[in-house]
Amino acid sequence: AFDVLVVGGGPAGAAAAVYAARKGVRTGVVAERFGGQVLDTMSIENFISVPHTEGPKLAAALEQHTRDYGVDIMALQTAVALEPAAIPGGLARVKLASGATLQARTVILSTGARWRQMGVPGEAEYRNKGVAYCPHCDGPLFKGKRVAVIGGGNSGAEAAIDLAGIVAHVTLIEFDAALRADAVLQNKLRSLANVTIITSAQTTEVHGDGSKVVGLSYKDRNSGNLHRVDLDGIFVQIGLVPNTEWLKGTLALSPRGEIEIDARGQTSVPGVFAAGDATTVPYKQIVIALGEGAKAALSAFDHLIRTVPA
Ligand code: FAD
Repeated sequence: AFDVLVVGGGPAGAAAAVYAARKGVRTGVVAERFGGQVLDTMSIENFISVPHTEGPKLAAALEQHTRDYGVDIMALQTAVALEPAAIPGGLARVKLASGATLQARTVILSTGARWRQMGVPGEAEYRNKGVAYCPHCDGPLFKGKRVAVIGGGNSGAEAAIDLAGIVAHVTLIEFDAALRADAVLQNKLRSLANVTIITSAQTTEVHGDGSKVVGLSYKDRNSGNLHRVDLDGIFVQIGLVPNTEWLKGTLALSPRGEIEIDARGQTSVPGVFAAGDATTVPYKQIVIALGEGAKAALSAFDHLIRTVPA
């Protein structure tokens, strides 16, 4: 059995594994794709002390650092169920899609999240070529340019306000007849001279010139007419979905499906910790996931030294 079994190999999982292994305890990582969302990222410019890097390069470095500590990495494996320990000090079980079951004294869940996509033509083709999902990450790339934000919930409104301070112009596109963002955000948004809000609008296509985004089309849901907007970037803000479907009913999840954790990364189940984008931690970023992973591992170690094995 493992002392610490980490499920998920993104920044949170890698940091958790390194911190656990450095305590000399038996550590394993199960990951579908080691590197996680970082693998899908082109350029990273907010990994402090590294002014510029690329996703695949950072993902490879995360994996190498984890391997250097002799961590047992089980890549291309999907966890499908978690069975908490039956008695205090007992072993938790993680079942894999392959049919195998792993046992561990503590478990750290770091299965991350995925951005909900519009699912329209051009979106996948121009991802990282104008189609973006993270304003904190990619906003500065569009300095002085025209962008759209898709989605008028809180994250869309926050993104539009944030971007309005950097880019030339923001068009906010909302599917419903009204924005769903908090009133205070809507008021702020309407006070900005370089923001246009379009409601009852369904984005139908992302247009590009073969190498980058040049515009989008939307359908006016009242008239049915199609309109085209010329722009350089599209920030899709229609939801970040945590990869926690497999944990429903096992531990406490927020209404959005995020794993509820306390300040130490402890979940509602003793001996089970969680970190990163899969959790209720605010702000989903690489440096935050790394810190959260480290914190969860230190909490798991603390749990191990205070618990008598059953
Ligand atoms: P993830 O990176 O999502 O990793 C989750 C891990 O869990 C993966 O290994 C996955 O395969 C695995 N997994 C999921 N489900 C299972 C399962 N059931 N069984 C086994 N394994 C499972 N942040 C920044 O700070 N700067 C940026 O510039 C930046 N740019 C971004 C660009 C894009 C396109 C995207 C999508 C995100 C970007 N982010 C950026 C956000 C950043 O990538 C995330 O905040 C960070 O990767 C979260 O780390 P994590 O370890 O919590 O989760």
